[in-house]
Amino acid sequence: MFTAIGYAAQTATSPLAPMNFQRRALRADDVALDILYCGVCHSDIHQARNEWGIAMYPLMPGHEIVGKVTAVGTNVTGYKVGDTVGVGCMVDSCSHCEACKADLEQYCAEGPTMTYATPDRVDGTTTMGGYSSAIVVSERFVVRIPAKLDLASAAPILCAGITTYSPLKHYGVKAGDKVGILGMGGLGHMGIKFAKAMGAEVTLFTRSAAKAEEARRQGADHVIVSTDEAQMAAAAERFDFLLDTIPVQHDLNPYLDTLRFDGVHILVGLIEPIDPAVHAAKLVMKRRVLAGSLIGGIAETQEVLDFCAEHGITCDIEMLDIRNINEAFERMIKGDVKYRFVIDMATLKG
Ligand code: NDP
Repeated sequence: MFTAIGYAAQTATSPLAPMNFQRRALRADDVALDILYCGVCHSDIHQARNEWGIAMYPLMPGHEIVGKVTAVGTNVTGYKVGDTVGVGCMVDSCSHCEACKADLEQYCAEGPTMTYATPDRVDGTTTMGGYSSAIVVSERFVVRIPAKLDLASAAPILCAGITTYSPLKHYGVKAGDKVGILGMGGLGHMGIKFAKAMGAEVTLFTRSAAKAEEARRQGADHVIVSTDEAQMAAAAERFDFLLDTIPVQHDLNPYLDTLRFDGVHILVGLIEPIDPAVHAAKLVMKRRVLAGSLIGGIAETQEVLDFCAEHGITCDIEMLDIRNINEAFERMIKGDVKYRFVIDMATLKG
């Protein structure tokens, strides 16, 4: 065991504050890394504040982790000291269920062990995330950061990237498809880039007309201001796919109207009951599909990192001093970040 330091919430209402804690001694298949950068996902806010009702305290968020390997267990074959690696949202799974065997560990029948706020499968301790100096993870849940990628901007690919890439790929988005991205935050701006790289005609749905120019710079062909009923009506039955990153309950009905028949509305942002209710006729009468998607498996996480290196895709980031993490949460809630905070872990030493 060794002592690490990180920022954690002690209760649902307390701000994140520094905390010393123990990282486990290396198991045979473990990799230890010093964390260089960690992205700040809206899920970190949901969890720190127990908005999903599943938080475990103290809760140390962070699942967009990039670091350097400092030690490896006796059975590790894929990584060596000095390698630059990443850890995303999961750190373990059962490895024998149908989903795990299909490289879809996120849908593990026994439930994946998440990077933070989940009991470790071996010793039962609560996992602690990447807002910290170091982490110890099984090599099965470590990915390699391609040399072409800037390390800080690569960090958010480990969650915001894979969460948007995976469903677009799963549903077979291809050249000429009309794809709408709902919300331009951390996930949304990556969704625009991936849909564009897949050849789609991309439209951002945003509450904020002020984001129009930025969205075009990200690769969007069109922008619809979602609060403008006339613009929404003019988009009726236009889209093949909608990728919905909105993090709060919202009315899906006006968005469903913008899908053509057989269109698919993919939820990634909402993990709560849908309210107001969806009018089933909007699905039935047009054979539309309302779907959901959770992050992506480890093999696909490596794939999206390689895809980003190949296509020159990076995340737009604002570097963050960890001492300002609580202000960063407030700014994210206001939509005031372009488009992902990434903690420079060197600031932890300050
Ligand atoms: P951000 O806060 O970075 O972005 C969310 C965007 O949604 C905002 O920029 C804003 O875009 C829009 N938005 C925010 N509030 C509202 C509102 N009240 N009504 C309508 N639109 C709103 O969040 P992230 O991108 O980090 O995360 C998005 C969601 O995805 C979160 O709920 C997160 O927990 C979830 N998530 C899900 C994952 C999965 O596997 N399914 C994985 C990771 C995250 P605009 O200003 O353009 O309208």
